[in-house]
Amino acid sequence: MSRKFIVGGNWKCNPKTYKECNELLKAWKKALPNVDRSKVEVVICPPALWLTSFTESFEGLGFGVCAQNCGKTDAGAFTGEWTAANLVDLGLKWTLLGHSERRSLYGETDEDVAEKVGKCQEAGLGVILCIGEKLEEREGGKTDEVNKRQLGACLPKIKDWDKIVIAYEPVWAIGTGKVATPEQAEETQKAIRAYLSQAVSSAVAEKVRIQYGGSVNPENCAELIKQPNIDGFLVGGASLKPSFMDIISAVG
Ligand code: PEP
Repeated sequence: MSRKFIVGGNWKCNPKTYKECNELLKAWKKALPNVDRSKVEVVICPPALWLTSFTESFEGLGFGVCAQNCGKTDAGAFTGEWTAANLVDLGLKWTLLGHSERRSLYGETDEDVAEKVGKCQEAGLGVILCIGEKLEEREGGKTDEVNKRQLGACLPKIKDWDKIVIAYEPVWAIGTGKVATPEQAEETQKAIRAYLSQAVSSAVAEKVRIQYGGSVNPENCAELIKQPNIDGFLVGGASLKPSFMDIISAVG
């Protein structure tokens, strides 16, 4: 079965100004590669305040919009939050969940992420579910155990697998310039797929898309994308540059 590639650009809390966003979008427009979009989906994750500010520009480039997070509750007295249903109401199709920065800086637990996944499933919102091990966990031989634990917590909440993408993002590779080797990423993502086959079904394991994320750039992406279990990338720092278009080109 061939899976459609999916590339995400996670802007995090960047750029600093609305003007800089517009400049980046102009540069992207100039460098837009002519790739077969039936084979590559692209979604951009701007900061929440700008979720709808650039919809027209993104759509003009053929890109979807993806939130970086959502709340774990329904509507109500939850100051500072937004719900999965709010995102659907805004016309969004995707959100990231469980990014390592949410887990490490904001204390999100596996259970919190699972609750959020459940709310997105109820609302019909697609989730790019981020999982991945820390350096000491990799060095301690615990990589597969950590991925299974983070993913396993969410499995009871998932009914519609067409609305789930997994982003394998080793924490030691995020924002560090230390990309996983193609062999490391492939071995781990193969193990994630094997786990899904055993814990859910072989059909789900075969169809679910697994991105690699962690210091992906235009120089290292071509070797990574050759791996059979890498179905695209979640890109942080390099998605804030005009050359993000080169990554899309390499995938397509
Ligand atoms: C990320 O934040 O999801 C990420 C992968 O960041 P970077 O590409 O900068 O490592």
